[in-house]
Amino acid sequence: MILMSIMRQSKDGNSVFSFGNNKARLTNPNDMKVKFADVAGSLEEKEELSEIVDFLKAPKKYRELGAKIPKGVLLYGAPGTGKTLLARAVAGEAGVKFFYISGSDFVEMLVGVGASRVRSLFADAKREAPSVVFIDEIDAVGRKRGAGLGGGQDEREQTLNQILVEMDGFDVNTNIIVMAATNRVDVLDPALLRPGRFDRRIMVNMPDADEREAILKIHAKNKPLAKDVSLREVALSTVGFTGADLENLLNEAALMAARHNNKEISMLEVTDAMFRVQMGPQKNSKKLSDKVKKLTSYHEAGHAVVLRATSDFEKVDRVTIIPVGQAGGYTAYKPIEDTDYYTEKMLLDTIKMSLGGRAAEEIFLGEISTGAASDLRHCNDIAKNMIKRYGLSKKFRNMVFGDENEEVFLGYSMGQVQSYSEQTAAAI
Ligand code: ADP
Ligand code: MG
Ligand code: ZN
Repeated sequence: MILMSIMRQSKDGNSVFSFGNNKARLTNPNDMKVKFADVAGSLEEKEELSEIVDFLKAPKKYRELGAKIPKGVLLYGAPGTGKTLLARAVAGEAGVKFFYISGSDFVEMLVGVGASRVRSLFADAKREAPSVVFIDEIDAVGRKRGAGLGGGQDEREQTLNQILVEMDGFDVNTNIIVMAATNRVDVLDPALLRPGRFDRRIMVNMPDADEREAILKIHAKNKPLAKDVSLREVALSTVGFTGADLENLLNEAALMAARHNNKEISMLEVTDAMFRVQMGPQKNSKKLSDKVKKLTSYHEAGHAVVLRATSDFEKVDRVTIIPVGQAGGYTAYKPIEDTDYYTEKMLLDTIKMSLGGRAAEEIFLGEISTGAASDLRHCNDIAKNMIKRYGLSKKFRNMVFGDENEEVFLGYSMGQVQSYSEQTAAAI
């Protein structure tokens, strides 16, 4: 048993016997190719970080003015939004060495190894200063103490403490910027966020349509696209995609084009890849009866026709009756322009569009099916929010019921006091 755990190889193939030797990947500044120009969008993020770049390039300027530069910069945001990329770009822009380590490397290590790794990592970074130390997935070691399940607590705590000791030990002449990334800033130990530690926090946002287009352009650079490919249209269709998703999408499209023995990537391959990333692979081999095909056809056509007849802010993107995942088919639609808000009419149009599937079944087949289950959930949620959150009902115009977090905790809401009467609840 003991032998087993000692013999276990760590992820990169190094035996855990290499105690203490830090396995931070050192990047030579000459090889450091990532620049801010490689990060599309994220203008505010880059703007904030350019001060750090400037400091790494000309620390004297800041010191002579008595300016204190942040020691620690925490990047937070959803996975795949470009946090690691931004950190690399900071080192790249400044032309300094980049030391990378991931919090998850420390999980399940022998007690004491994490702390000594941190120590030697910082020793190396100081020797190579000016430099950037990047701690990815810092939440893996930096969770609130006493929180979380399972073992490894001691190890994590020691590792975290060592990071804090190192940062506290920086003096005015230390030209090291410590950067860290997480998608869970809420679980971080408050000790990490105190002044003099990760006191500069930068939120890395999900890209909007313009940013998605710019990201697509960057990743399309080495890919021959056919003339019919409109990256603008793809950007509009990919609400909720991160930079990593978009990169993945174009790669899938390139693979598909290769499989088709094409010399260029066509719009069809790009949209196929987009839906594949979004919905999962199509189940082409599934045998369907004519009855099912007919039902699905009318249902999906119902959505498409109602959308076309009502909405002036969205358009039909694709209608298919080939099953994917749990769905027998789907109607995809996309905004005509990027939008951050919805008008009352837009919400009502969306409700109508959701009900279009069932309505078509009723009109053309004379009976309705369970195929509308997720449509009903969707439009009921919208209706409920219109009444409770947005004050858009006739009866309770401009009134809001319940607080933001209501219903987040299922089972907990049972004991919660409702802030409105039973009669009001019934009317809602
Ligand atoms: P995170 O660290 O936030 O999880 P990464 O920096 O690892 O995300 O992003 C993964 C990949 O996605 C990057 O290597 C890059 O290719 C792509 N990517 C993400 N955001 C962008 C962006 N803003 N511009 C260009 N590429 C991006
Ligand atoms: Mg990352
Ligand atoms: Zn439907």
